[in-house]
Amino acid sequence: MNTFDVIIQNANVYDGTGTPSYVADIAIQDGRIAAISKKINASAEKIIDASNKAVCPGFIDVHSHADLTIHLSDHHKILEPLLRQGVTTFVGGNCGMGPAPIDDYHRQEAITYVESMMGESVQSSFHWSSVGSFLETLDKQGIILNCGFLVPHGMLRIAAKGLEYSQTCANDLKHMEKNLISGLDAGALGMSTGLMYFPGLNADTEELTALAKVVSKHQAVFSSHIRSYSNTLQQAIDEIINLSKSTDVRIQISHLFHVPHIHPIIDGAVRTVLRMASTINKYIPLSMPDDRNLMNILSQIDKNIKKGIPLGADAMPTSTGFTHVLAFFPPWSLNGTREEVTNRLKDPSERKKIYQSIQQGQSVWPHQDKDTWSMNCFKTMGFRSIHLMSVVSKKNKCFEGMSWHAIAKARGQEPFDTVCDFLIEENGRVLVFISPTFVGDEFIEQFSACTIRDPNVSIVTDTILLGFGKPSHLFYDCYPKLFSKYVNKEKQLSLEEAIRKSTSLPAQQLGIKNRGIIQK
Ligand SMILES: [Zn+2]
Repeated sequence: MNTFDVIIQNANVYDGTGTPSYVADIAIQDGRIAAISKKINASAEKIIDASNKAVCPGFIDVHSHADLTIHLSDHHKILEPLLRQGVTTFVGGNCGMGPAPIDDYHRQEAITYVESMMGESVQSSFHWSSVGSFLETLDKQGIILNCGFLVPHGMLRIAAKGLEYSQTCANDLKHMEKNLISGLDAGALGMSTGLMYFPGLNADTEELTALAKVVSKHQAVFSSHIRSYSNTLQQAIDEIINLSKSTDVRIQISHLFHVPHIHPIIDGAVRTVLRMASTINKYIPLSMPDDRNLMNILSQIDKNIKKGIPLGADAMPTSTGFTHVLAFFPPWSLNGTREEVTNRLKDPSERKKIYQSIQQGQSVWPHQDKDTWSMNCFKTMGFRSIHLMSVVSKKNKCFEGMSWHAIAKARGQEPFDTVCDFLIEENGRVLVFISPTFVGDEFIEQFSACTIRDPNVSIVTDTILLGFGKPSHLFYDCYPKLFSKYVNKEKQLSLEEAIRKSTSLPAQQLGIKNRGIIQK
């Protein structure tokens, strides 16, 4: 009989801790590492010769939206690109949104909310209510990747009070705390927020403090898509660090990036220059300095970690983010059911009011009136910088990948009317990419490369793959790009460090035990 199931021989072991690699044999028995030694003289059912190859822990993608797909019977096919790039564990439920919890009284609103990120109706497939019953469904069904889950703040809010543009009362909060405790007891790693998104953006710091106290008591993680990633980024960072100081909760700052706010007078000229530079950069590499704001924030995070504040952050190796186009609408215009929102978009006078709100609205926090919200993206970015990622209907598929400005031109309309018409035609299911120039621009990416290099920042995909539309390139090349560009080509990171940032660091940040390090 063989001693082990598998022996990997002569491997260059990058153990995930960031220490220098070493050559060793690794023996595996019953799915676990049974021995690591310079030479293992034993028999095995399978012997793999890994001479001149690297062996490292599977990558842990702690900012994923694969939870929206994982319940599908064909998710093996849809999520395969993650596995092919080395991801073995993902954490879903990010940005305040996910498949659970769902309260029966507000089931329709919860389904509508989630469906806006999906291509098909989940009416019949979402049969669970609690986080526990969702996780049990996955267990029974079997899944292609290890999966961790964060209880989404947006779903807690919808379960308590539906899609309402209002503050929580004591009763709502009690309901949210109960569902949060139930989710954490069922095995969730923590909770997530989407404070830039409706309805999560309605939460004031008191609401977040009450929930963070629950998370802290469970020694879980509070993962936060913060209020803003633009001109109020600093206030958003301060709010979340103070939350950790006041409640001792472990904080993970989600997908750290910065969209600079350009004054409208020079906006057009700046964008033209950027586009020209991006085009030249395709042929002759140009260098762009690091973003000062991001550098300051990274140093603020580091100082706080050194003082013992439990903080972490993650980032994507790209210049392009994605989200739902409704995320850019004034919060008051999103109050109520999908039908109420759609009716508002259909009504010309309401549509005008929404557009005025966008034009006049200020990105400030705390919110001062109904026309202020944390990140007014249409105003900050403009219609040229927001590109259509996916729609559901066949007739609009030809516009995928184009900017709203270009789509509007092709349809002979004003860009905002095109956005509203698409939302009506697509029943609210319109996803977009955000990039000041073009999707996946590596010139602009240099601006945020400091986050990829920073030792406190783990690497994530932040992807959603639904089996249609134009998914983010990171769904296919997040980790391959990290190694080929940042390690091999540009030498911004050592291979050991890039692996640490994709394995043991994210495991430690999210409290994932027994993952991320090659050890016996
Ligand atoms: Zn997010």
